[in-house]
Amino acid sequence: MRKKIVAGNWKMNNDLNESINLISAIKKGINENNTNVDVIICPPFTSLETAYALIKNTTIKLGAQNMYYEKNGAYTGEISAGMLLSVGCEFVILGHSERRTIFGETDELINKKIKSAIQAGLKPIFCIGETLEQRERGEAFEVVDDQLKKGLYQVSNEDIKNIIIAYEPVWAIGTGKNATPEQAQEIHNYIRKQISAMYDSLTAEKLIIQYGGSVKPENSKQLMSMPDIDGALVGGACLKADSFISIINSAV
Ligand code: PEP
Repeated sequence: MRKKIVAGNWKMNNDLNESINLISAIKKGINENNTNVDVIICPPFTSLETAYALIKNTTIKLGAQNMYYEKNGAYTGEISAGMLLSVGCEFVILGHSERRTIFGETDELINKKIKSAIQAGLKPIFCIGETLEQRERGEAFEVVDDQLKKGLYQVSNEDIKNIIIAYEPVWAIGTGKNATPEQAQEIHNYIRKQISAMYDSLTAEKLIIQYGGSVKPENSKQLMSMPDIDGALVGGACLKADSFISIINSAV
């Protein structure tokens, strides 16, 4: 039985004080006795260290939103896996569509980041998903398959166990237009089948596949009750403690 995982991607929102306020509100609202769902928050880099200090005695876990694959050196503006670990991160979001489209990240770069994260001991939340044009051309399966194969190139049977996949159709991110539970389930099931073919059926069965794209309290329960949807990667709706908490509670 796979456990549900709900992660909040804060994106470029919340300065240090705002982060402290949001985390305090999440801590107040969260049911610490609920062991059926894992909760991850991914604040901006500048709030990570403080966030860790605030959540370290709770069940909430910490993730970052990006990293570079080199360990250190002349890479102005970049952050390494080791640096993220040193401030308490356990997870890192990689391959988010905003990184792909706005910052030009390629599948090859994402693959290097995934391997570097795992080698350092971080667990990647690896995002994949098609654009609206690709879906309308009937290419959704092909795109997801291609991103999976390129992103996971040379990722071993052992290492895939430390990866969460987030299916995030680009047309649903930040648009208010979520995939229907059936549309999402169809792709999640396909991803699981591809992972089974690339690795093995037990690995595929255990893999956590989150859905992301306009998840909100009104649609989260239906989405997460689908058999292959193991939680959510939440953007906009994680910036308010009450909506994030209702999404977490709907995963139970
Ligand atoms: C995201 O950024 O990963 C995301 C899913 O955003 P939103 O929930 O706002 O669509």
